[in-house]
Amino acid sequence: MKTEMYLALGISPRVAALGEEILAGLEERFKAIDETAEYNQAKVLLAMQKNRVSAECLTGTTGYGHDDKGRDTLERVYADVFHTEAALVRPALTCGTHALATALSANLLPGDELLSPVGRPYDTLEEVIGIRPSPCSLKEFGVSYRQVDLRPDGTFDYENIKNAINEKTKLVTIQRSKGYQMRPSFSVKEIGELIAFIKRVKPGLTVMVDNCYGEFTEETEPSDVGADMVVGSLIKNPGGGLAPIGGYIAGKQACIDRCHYRLTAPGIGQDVGASLDVSRSLYQGFFLAPTVAAGALKGAIFAANLYERLGFACVPNGRESRHDIIQSIRLGSKEAMEAFCSGIQAAAPVDSFATPVPCPIPGYDDEVIMAAGAFIQGASIELSADGPIRPPYAVYFQGGLTWAHAKIGVLMSLQKLYEKGLVSL
Ligand SMILES: *Cc1c(COP(=O)(O)O)cnc(C)c1O
Repeated sequence: MKTEMYLALGISPRVAALGEEILAGLEERFKAIDETAEYNQAKVLLAMQKNRVSAECLTGTTGYGHDDKGRDTLERVYADVFHTEAALVRPALTCGTHALATALSANLLPGDELLSPVGRPYDTLEEVIGIRPSPCSLKEFGVSYRQVDLRPDGTFDYENIKNAINEKTKLVTIQRSKGYQMRPSFSVKEIGELIAFIKRVKPGLTVMVDNCYGEFTEETEPSDVGADMVVGSLIKNPGGGLAPIGGYIAGKQACIDRCHYRLTAPGIGQDVGASLDVSRSLYQGFFLAPTVAAGALKGAIFAANLYERLGFACVPNGRESRHDIIQSIRLGSKEAMEAFCSGIQAAAPVDSFATPVPCPIPGYDDEVIMAAGAFIQGASIELSADGPIRPPYAVYFQGGLTWAHAKIGVLMSLQKLYEKGLVSL
């Protein structure tokens, strides 16, 4: 039965059989993922019950959005899930980069220095910070930037981090997920150790964690281990595939207050910001997010084990523990990246007939290829693959609203490589 359905989708028996063989070895891992999902489901449910989410919260407001109960309650729910004093969760935060830029520019003043102790930040932040020149960058406003690279083995360079912290250092940014790099993603525990070290060197520093793609992959979040702000995008994990737009910043009240003033206007802060018609999706998506993240994790682990078997280097590898939903697979050539992405595209529920081609994208330095046929445009919690066209020609695979769909997508990517003669089975 399944073979017939797979054939109808274009997946050959040979590819499907290899998939089943790989899956047989993953039972234990999948069980552990289900347990994390159950824990996180309870965490979200409790936060919704505690804050008395009601039918009224699901309706929206327009205009100024004064007294928007749904918006304010959702921010309380996020704060409780992340165990923080406050949160800012809104459609007015247009994406993850915007949320990060808001958190940074709200909490840095001219003369302050920003430090990244984990190497270069995500591509789009280079212009936010001013590593690549841009109008309105932090650099233009007199905020300097310093970076300490990871050691060759991917661990923190504590000695140089200590040396980099000076009297100007005000805020430290730590990116949990690898982004478009081949370095490992950090566990919440590792992030906690780094934060403790940094705060011993200079107590008073503000630590922000770029939490994109990490939410709900573990039972704790960076805000449980000392981060003053955690920041992410609602078209990734915490939106659960339903949020049509948005970002969040959860953290210390004093930091979040400044973020509200930066996002809207000094003096106004959190009191304005109509939620329009998105509240229901933000609540429902957050409710589903632990399960959706679990399905995406299973897809990533399946992909790593399958592609490793075929001789491709994967980060993380097939056995490592997971701290985000991203799977990078080093395909080694532009052709293989294109074939992989065409398979992901062909497996999509929307725009399955399209062909992904590499092109320039604002905020990114190299041409990028992206495969996604998503209900929410650009949502990378949905089945998607992307990567900059540069050595080592790695694709970054992520998402899948259900595990079954993630599995189909991975098989379809292999099918295309197989058809193009880029792998032999
Ligand atoms: C996706 C991502 C961002 C930026 O989010 P956008 O919503 O694409 O602007 C920042 N940091 C990391 C690690 C990401 O994965």
